[in-house]
Amino acid sequence: MGGQLRKVKTIIEPTPVVEGAGVRLKRSLGGPALNYLDPFLLFDHFGSPNAEDYQAGFPMHPHRGIETVTYMLAGEVQHRDTLGNSGSIGAGDVQWMTAGGGILHEEMPQVRPEGNGGFQLWVNLPSKLKMSQPRYQDIPSGEIPEVMTEEGGKVRVIAGKVEGTNGGVTGIAANPTYLDVRILPGQSFIQPVSQGHTAFAYVFEGNVGFVEDDAKSPKWIEQTKLVVLEDGDLVKILAGDEASRLLLISAKPLGEPIARYGPFVMNTKEEIEQALLDLKQGTFIWQEQVGA
Ligand code: FE
Repeated sequence: MGGQLRKVKTIIEPTPVVEGAGVRLKRSLGGPALNYLDPFLLFDHFGSPNAEDYQAGFPMHPHRGIETVTYMLAGEVQHRDTLGNSGSIGAGDVQWMTAGGGILHEEMPQVRPEGNGGFQLWVNLPSKLKMSQPRYQDIPSGEIPEVMTEEGGKVRVIAGKVEGTNGGVTGIAANPTYLDVRILPGQSFIQPVSQGHTAFAYVFEGNVGFVEDDAKSPKWIEQTKLVVLEDGDLVKILAGDEASRLLLISAKPLGEPIARYGPFVMNTKEEIEQALLDLKQGTFIWQEQVGA
């Protein structure tokens, strides 16, 4: 496959943070290292075998102007929101929540012998959809297609497309690609990523070699790291002498101004002030506009 290989641009070491009511997690986007990777606002990796690290959870809290994507690796999280949704997600499941104009929800990890683990990504909404109707999609593990690639990769296609197979999540504003890639020792994985799109990899098992030039040795990166990739149209990666696993996430940047304050991400400071005012006045939750 020809194309311009995407080189490693920045390597981010995840920062330990405490979020919600006391959940320990590792943040690599949306923190001091990198505040915004347009259109991605935040990337958290949670996971612990110890209940005290996660059981406090995320009690009822608001969101506006973004989409949150939770991908579970282990354990169980119970969820409910002001749209009337409730349920639980477990290993391999995905929850894609469009906060739009305003939602309140609760995300509570359950104490389980296998602990709890997964990822949460925040994807920005374009200005014209920030105040849109909230939406909630729960995609069970069985509805996420798995593709075995020619080169020896095994990919769960959460969103986007791999070798003609479409992902389990569709209808997302930023039209992102979200892949969970496993590569066997000594094997490789090649994926086209459109020129101009933002792309990053999150290496969380083993060693991954990023091929920057077919004539040179790859750039090896050991777990656990977030790797921002330079522009190009092809990602080519290798596993070392043990199996590797990474997420490969990409989308077209929005190129719009952002104003962020905790769970609200808007375009202007005034819109943030409005969100806080709405919350105070009890008018935060999205409601159908008369005449809209
Ligand atoms: Fe939340």
